[in-house]
Amino acid sequence: MKIRVLGCSGALLPNANQPAFLVDEKILLDAGTIGNVLSADEQWKIRHILLTHAHLDHIVGIPFLLDNIVVKNIRHQVMVIGIKETLKAIKEHLLNDKIWPDFSKIPDKNSPVLALRDIKYGVPFKIDKYTIYPLKVRHTVPAAGYIIEKGRKRLLYTGDTGPVRTTWNEVNRLGSISGRVDAIIIEVSFPNRMKELAIKSGHLTPNLLYKELQKLNNLPKKILITHPKPLYYKLIKDEINKLMVEDIEILSDNMIITI
Ligand SMILES: [Zn+2]
Ligand SMILES: [Zn+2]
Repeated sequence: MKIRVLGCSGALLPNANQPAFLVDEKILLDAGTIGNVLSADEQWKIRHILLTHAHLDHIVGIPFLLDNIVVKNIRHQVMVIGIKETLKAIKEHLLNDKIWPDFSKIPDKNSPVLALRDIKYGVPFKIDKYTIYPLKVRHTVPAAGYIIEKGRKRLLYTGDTGPVRTTWNEVNRLGSISGRVDAIIIEVSFPNRMKELAIKSGHLTPNLLYKELQKLNNLPKKILITHPKPLYYKLIKDEINKLMVEDIEILSDNMIITI
């Protein structure tokens, strides 16, 4: 599995793109960054977008991708997948014919460029050769993390989450059946001194991350950090290094991870 980091920042600044991870060039995990880094041909390859939640920094690339596909008159469909609350929020508040056109009716109702598919926590589903397990995480809006499995390789992406117990219980349960995950992409948004804000806003600090990792029976082989606030990047990086956890690194835009 090849994962290309289109963006992994917890806010928008020059050279700090918002979260989006392209798996094997065709499945997008979150959609905070698309059109400003992918060429047109690369954009046409995206057929499935898996969303963790409806916050703008995770979905903002979608309206512009759909617009490009329609303008180019490419007759294919992009399937946006998420829990029902996420899809409802996008339909009601983004692609609502007010903020942006409702692409589930464009170019016409029978073959629209956008299809929405809702999934449920704990119920695995398939996209091509991938099996995907949605996990409930803890954020200020309903949110899902995902284990993406292809063959014997497994990636776990948390999306935005604060401290949680049930998610890790489920990861441990799945791990006892199919083995430990190869890589985890997990968020750390704030430095340690902003712990209160982190908890209130459903995010982690380096110390909170450390406690979360203790809840896993087996540490993933690679621990990859996403979503740091760029204004505190250096401090967060220092604090993560001080955790003395093996095989941990903060992701950067354009990085490619192979598992
Ligand atoms: Zn969020
Ligand atoms: Zn976010």
